[in-house]
Amino acid sequence: MELIFLGTGTSQGVPMIAFHEHKCDLNNPKNWRTRTSAHVIAAGLHIQIDAAPEFRLQCISNKIEKIDYFILTHGHSDHVMGMDDLRRFCDQRDSSAIDVYSTDEGLNRVAEIYPYAIMDKPRYKGYPAFRLNLIGDTLELPGVTIHTTLMPHGSLQVLGLLFHEHGTGHRLAYYTDCKDVPSRARKLAHGCEVMVLDALRYEEHPTHLTLNEALAVSAECGAQRTFLTHMTHHMDYDVLCKRLPAHIRPAYDGLRVST
Ligand SMILES: [Zn+2]
Ligand SMILES: [Zn+2]
Repeated sequence: MELIFLGTGTSQGVPMIAFHEHKCDLNNPKNWRTRTSAHVIAAGLHIQIDAAPEFRLQCISNKIEKIDYFILTHGHSDHVMGMDDLRRFCDQRDSSAIDVYSTDEGLNRVAEIYPYAIMDKPRYKGYPAFRLNLIGDTLELPGVTIHTTLMPHGSLQVLGLLFHEHGTGHRLAYYTDCKDVPSRARKLAHGCEVMVLDALRYEEHPTHLTLNEALAVSAECGAQRTFLTHMTHHMDYDVLCKRLPAHIRPAYDGLRVST
């Protein structure tokens, strides 16, 4: 499996607009973070997780040239506002809709924002089209099973995803935007090769894991490697690398991880 971190920033990205007190070193490009989204290649399938507002630029800079399935973790703007740019991938599929999987909350949000795209074929060539699918406990795709779980994130529940590639037996957990990783999610991820965790900042936050909370989850799950995402400007790449054990790394935009 391969995981490409397209974006690793919180809802305002780093640097923030009209803000001059960034705590991270902006001379280090690893601290420039677009909004959080990721691309997984498993059993040859290209699975896109979320579409940040910078989705088009993320696809270009990371050479994303194919998307077979789209999974939306939840309907917050920093995860959903790039979906119109899926139009290019509909075009490639001979103008047929792209399958979008999410919770009720996520699908309702997509329908509210993109009413012109909820159809089996794009209205005109070059338009986007989304086929909405309510995701169940598992999503079976050829050669890969995706187990799903729900995690608390303020007033909503966010989809946690555990990818299991049949051919290699490798497992990868992707848990962004959560205040807690409940027991089902911890069990699913136990001993997985790669774990991705929300680690917003050092200080307590009502809807996201802090660095210490993320480290505790990682230790309990015993993942071989853990990558931190959805980070604010408080999180400096070099400082974190010095402080953290070698199997836990802050992710950065453009990082590619293979299992
Ligand atoms: Zn969110
Ligand atoms: Zn978010």
